[in-house]
Amino acid sequence: MHQPAIPHLALADPDIAGLVEAEARRQFEKVRLIASENYVSPAVLEATGTVLTNKYSEGYPGRRYYEGQQNVDPVELLAVDRAKALFGVEHANVQPYSGAPANLAVYLAFAQPGDTIMGMALPMGGHLTHGWSVSASGKWFNAVRYSVRADGPDAGRADLDEVRELALKERPKLIFCGGTAIPRTIDFPAFAEIARESGAVLVADVAHIAGLIAGGAHPSPVGYADVISTTTHKTLRGPRGAMLMSTAEHATAIDKAVFPGLQGGPHDHTTAAIAVALREASTSEFSAYAHQIVANAKALAEALLERGFDLVSGGTDNHLILVDLTGKGVAGKPAARALDRAGIELNYNTVPFDPRKPFDPSGVRLGTAAITTRGLTPELMPRIADWIDQAVQAAAKEDDAALDGIAAQVRELLAAYPMPGWAQTP
Ligand SMILES: *Cc1c(COP(=O)(O)O)cnc(C)c1O
Repeated sequence: MHQPAIPHLALADPDIAGLVEAEARRQFEKVRLIASENYVSPAVLEATGTVLTNKYSEGYPGRRYYEGQQNVDPVELLAVDRAKALFGVEHANVQPYSGAPANLAVYLAFAQPGDTIMGMALPMGGHLTHGWSVSASGKWFNAVRYSVRADGPDAGRADLDEVRELALKERPKLIFCGGTAIPRTIDFPAFAEIARESGAVLVADVAHIAGLIAGGAHPSPVGYADVISTTTHKTLRGPRGAMLMSTAEHATAIDKAVFPGLQGGPHDHTTAAIAVALREASTSEFSAYAHQIVANAKALAEALLERGFDLVSGGTDNHLILVDLTGKGVAGKPAARALDRAGIELNYNTVPFDPRKPFDPSGVRLGTAAITTRGLTPELMPRIADWIDQAVQAAAKEDDAALDGIAAQVRELLAAYPMPGWAQTP
């Protein structure tokens, strides 16, 4: 049963309640390896479901356009103060609705339409909003894109020589580092040096790794990046939302870009839940969690390598593993679909220099943030790698019975690992 219980919803709208219950059960029964997902705590879930959703509060604490901010102002101030303390930044804005709008606000703050901006290309592991052609960032700006190295000992890692060359030639207003399928540590000092040499504002988009940074399991961009953009719902384990952090110098530009530049009223229930998540993330338990995410990812990468899987960059430093399935004789999409049937949920993904199309690419992407929240440990990773291996083989043979057999074993294992948001009823 969903936790907290949803009796009013069940009465008022059995259709939606039924789907929520089914989703909670699905999340309980699957090995959830989607690298951008997690399980939030019951406290974060409760905060998102409060009367704060009834309030309008355009503006910032102490400078609002609506009355009645006696409680909302302190909520937002707590979130801001906790973000500043946790990440050690001078300024934090907790109002962006999500990661993509947060990045759009960064463009609004620092660039004009037609200006040159730079980011990692989407098929190399960057994010849509870092200048990819179908996104506003690629349509409204002259986007220059860098890649990862194709070969050599650093194959699959960001090509910093290319970043420097492109930056000095193109003189972008903004350089984005970070992305959505990067299995290796981001070299913030190197990016900062290039940004300084080329006169660009450096934006570290740490959406995926914010929880690892908060927990001390990945180096921090603070002191290197001018602006830090992050979602709050990936490894940071908060509600769906985002934050922009910066030095004091850029505080006004960021705030004005978020509101009134781009958004209307902030989602105060989300702000409250972000504050709760930030409080959780400042504990020693969370730091242990962040390190365990990495330990699990390294153990899973090792176990996959032992079973003949080809990993982009040869492994991982963080929560994320990018697998090139070419050698296994199956493409990313049918593999992902088969794995889902086998109770292992992940997403198909392009790999660098992918000869296949983005909607039907060669790889799959995995992450360990959610299974680490469930309490799974490195000793269990060979078992998960075995299931992945069997399911990929079954996918190649279209053997659905084998997939259903794996799903049953997955359910049996996971029954012993509780999930926040779900309580098993007798
Ligand atoms: C997830 C992600 C985003 C976008 O976040 P949404 O909340 O989905 O809009 C932006 N940048 C990076 C690097 C991401 O991984």
